[in-house]
Order: sequence, then C-alpha cells, then structure tokens
Amino acid sequence: MTTNGYLLTPQVASELEELKVKNLQIAIDGTREVHDTRRVLMNGGPTYDRIMQNIDHLVTVWKGKIHFRVNVDRQNRDNYFPIYRALHERFQGKRIDVYPGLVRSAAGVNPDLDCHMGRLEASQLAVDMFKEVLSKADTVKPDDISRYYPQARFSGCTANMKNFYVIGPSGEIYKCWHDIGIEKMTLGTIFDEQLQNVEVVANYMVATDPFDDPECRQCSYLPVCTGGCPQLRYEKKFNKIDHDSCTKFRDRLPELLEIYYHMKQSARKDCAKTTGQPKE
Ligand code: SF4
Repeated sequence: MTTNGYLLTPQVASELEELKVKNLQIAIDGTREVHDTRRVLMNGGPTYDRIMQNIDHLVTVWKGKIHFRVNVDRQNRDNYFPIYRALHERFQGKRIDVYPGLVRSAAGVNPDLDCHMGRLEASQLAVDMFKEVLSKADTVKPDDISRYYPQARFSGCTANMKNFYVIGPSGEIYKCWHDIGIEKMTLGTIFDEQLQNVEVVANYMVATDPFDDPECRQCSYLPVCTGGCPQLRYEKKFNKIDHDSCTKFRDRLPELLEIYYHMKQSARKDCAKTTGQPKE
C-alpha cells in the first residue's frame, strides 16, 4: 500500500495486520525543514512531525516493512543524504528501506518541469549517494546494493507484469500508479466483474515491449536494462511525448560497476565479522 503517512493513525495502523498488508510505501520529501516547505496541508500547515509520530506508533504494532520513498528533484537532491541517515537512525532495528524516488513531470499537470532530474543527474545522485553515505556506512544494506547495476536491472514494474494492478482511492483499477486520476487510463473498478479497458493492459504488456523498439534492438544494454520505465515508453509511443526512458546506468557503467563491487565487498566483510564466514 502506498500512502503519504498523514492519516496512518494508530486506529488505521491497528488494522494493517488483519488486512494482511505486508509492505507500505511512505513518501517523504526530505528532512523536516525541507518536507514542511513542500508537503503542506491545504492551509499551509506542516505534516512532517505528524507523519513521523504515526510511524513511531506503527512500528510498534505492525510487523510489515516500510519503504520510505524520498521524493527527489533538482531542488532537494542534496537533502536526500541527511534524510536517509535520519530515517535509519530514528527507526534503527525496524524493517525499513529508504530510497530516492525521482520526481517526474507528469504530462500536462506539472508546471515545474524544470525540477525533473534527467538521466545524468540521476546517475550522479547514485554516485554521490555512495560517496556521501554508503562508502562510510559500517554496514551496507542489501536494499542499498540492489539499487545499483547489475542487481537493479531486474526491477519489476506493475505496468507490464501480468498479475499486478494498482487500485485507486475510489476502487478504480490502473496498470501504473502514474496513471492514477487519468480517466482514460482506468481499466475498470474493483466493483466490476471484468476489466472494461483491456486495450491499456495490452499496450503496457505488449506494445511497449523494448524488443519491438528499433533503437533498443540496436542497443547493447538490452535485455539487461529491460527497456526502462514502461510508462515513459507508453507516453512516448501513444502520446508522442519525448521522454528519455533509458537506464540511468547507461552513461556511467564502469564507475557504477566499481561502486557495486565496493558495496558487495563491504557487505561480505560485514558478514564475515558477524558469522566468521564470508558470504558467497
Ligand atoms: S538503454 Fe535505452 S535504448 Fe538501450 S535498451 Fe535500454 S531503453 Fe533501449
């Protein structure tokens, strides 16, 4: 389940076990100072403290895992490192994962197009994350390693997986969460017997296949890059929006592979320290 955490009250938290919710993605926009300038109530009021208090309680009553998605764009990218540290410190020993979610311009609705980080900026963030935080950490977490190539290459996606769907707040069904609120991308609702709009499913599952894309077919990153984000490919193909859907690892592969190697080595040493046996 995906939430901004603001209404994740003790009452709601107490229902998650019974509802068999195993994973929560909670979006944060940075440390308190940054978050509260960007994610405000309609009256301009702050939200950070209440979200954190909700989570303080949540981790005492619920056994699932929290995935903190830190929304990052050009303006707050340097704030990613402090919030990464702060969340790991605050929820030490709890089942959490912190990762950067790159803010994207949604066609036609985002007036701040300039805030969107491009492919090179995204790969620079991955390099800086290693230099600023992960190279100094005593323990590199498996979740962190999995965000670097080559492990990152198989990142799954709801949009082109057969049994994955996104349920919107009114019970409407989508293939991708970027489509939430866009009527023509609604597949039906959980109250219908059948999906009403199978064309969108087919377009995501088949028509955006990188193996049918002449550029991808010539590219040596296929199949490991999996063609990048299917939703960007969809917009490129059907809405003629000129997105760059290529993997962020494309331009800096040697450097990012070295980072991956260092992180694996560090995880191996840590395992040897705790078990006496290096991890294979
Ligand atoms: S890197 Fe870009 S061009 Fe190459 S396969 Fe991936 S999406 Fe296609």
